[in-house]
Amino acid sequence: MTTSIFEERKDQIHRTGQGPFELACNRDSLAGAVSQRACVFCGSRVVLYPIADALHLVHGPIGCAAYTWDIRGALSSGPELHRLSFSTDLREKDVIFGGEPKLTAALDELIDRHQPKAAFVYSTCIVGLIGDDLKAVCKSMSEKKGIPVLPVQSEGFKGNKREGYLAACKAMFELVGTKDDPEIPPVSVNIFGDFNLAGEIWIIREYLERMGVSVIANVTGDGRVDDIRRCHGAALNLVQCSGATLDLAKMMEEKYGIPYLRVSYLGVEDMAQALYDVADHFADKDPDIVARTGALVREELANLLPELKKLRADLEGKRAAIYVGGAFKAFSLIKAFRHLGMRVCIVGSQTGTREDYEELAAITDPGTIIVDDANPLELSAFIKEKDVDVFVGGVKERPIAFKLGVGFCDHNHERKIALEGFVGMLNFAREIHASAMSPVWRFVPRRAKALCNAPKEAGA
Ligand code: SF4
Repeated sequence: MTTSIFEERKDQIHRTGQGPFELACNRDSLAGAVSQRACVFCGSRVVLYPIADALHLVHGPIGCAAYTWDIRGALSSGPELHRLSFSTDLREKDVIFGGEPKLTAALDELIDRHQPKAAFVYSTCIVGLIGDDLKAVCKSMSEKKGIPVLPVQSEGFKGNKREGYLAACKAMFELVGTKDDPEIPPVSVNIFGDFNLAGEIWIIREYLERMGVSVIANVTGDGRVDDIRRCHGAALNLVQCSGATLDLAKMMEEKYGIPYLRVSYLGVEDMAQALYDVADHFADKDPDIVARTGALVREELANLLPELKKLRADLEGKRAAIYVGGAFKAFSLIKAFRHLGMRVCIVGSQTGTREDYEELAAITDPGTIIVDDANPLELSAFIKEKDVDVFVGGVKERPIAFKLGVGFCDHNHERKIALEGFVGMLNFAREIHASAMSPVWRFVPRRAKALCNAPKEAGA
């Protein structure tokens, strides 16, 4: 098996158990390697985009806006201004003479027309190059219109996708603390880093409500500007995902003294652990919360586990590959696959940190390939090498799986079926089962050839 790995990328790949853990990460993608990763601007856009009553204006050429239009598929329970993709559509003339007049005109018109609660203005590569003063335009527009108009310093060339998360958090931090709410109860949280794909945040909110916990702000799925402005009044931040909103949680801890818990709502153990952690945190304020949470988890598991058992009967021993945006999600997926009797042979992420990868090396089986910021050639070669049955990834990974005749589960922005919570674990298991067990894969040339060459069973 020939694995196509560029010399410069060799230290971003590790095989569990083969030598001491060494993995380079969080570095800029290698030019020419066609990274699966997105740019800084895209990173900031995916984080902020689900704030549904804000105006999102991309200051740049039209391609940047088109590339990220509706990228999260984040659902809203109310306004849907976020679904519209606005761009200043910079042209050659603007590049030569400056794009500030166009930005001012666009903001003026869009704010009057849509009456948003706030506006986010995203900087793209070209804006960084021509030097438009985004901050000055936003400041004067904010004064003129009486709403927060926030620059997002997300020039695409500035670094990697993680840099975009930071730019988004800095923009949101401008909103936090701008509105006080004395009514916020003591047992209260903000949900950070959930993007309400397929309504997932509503599942989590329902669990928290059953436990007696008030949710003050969704940051950012189904988000509202006014909630983010008052969210400094909550007692705790729950941070999901590795990186997207962690910086904001740290900023709020430093400025407002609000602690944060890192949680995952994927899989059985991590979902239950997230709820137990919240209950433990508030046990002194609400002595019954731990018992209520235990009852909730038991009730959910009583429905879930028998169903998982049925699906496991078919999936036992099959192999999976995972390539996701943040590595934190990968931890939960590895555990979820164990519930299905499956082994994860490849696991990678676009934005994992050294700590994330160390943990992956600690929890994966010997021989598992751990990869940072992969490209299609590497992923294809690894999938063939490990002969996986199902690949969990996002939109850019889907064609890789299908071309190789491998089942696929979209665990990223585009999905329409919720995967979080106990109900999400069942959806996930059903999807993995349907994809991995589909008879269609035997007709894919690579698989068909392997089946023809396989020794015939006695009597066949
Ligand atoms: S890399 Fe630059 S030009 Fe390309 S989408 Fe990102 S911001 Fe736009």
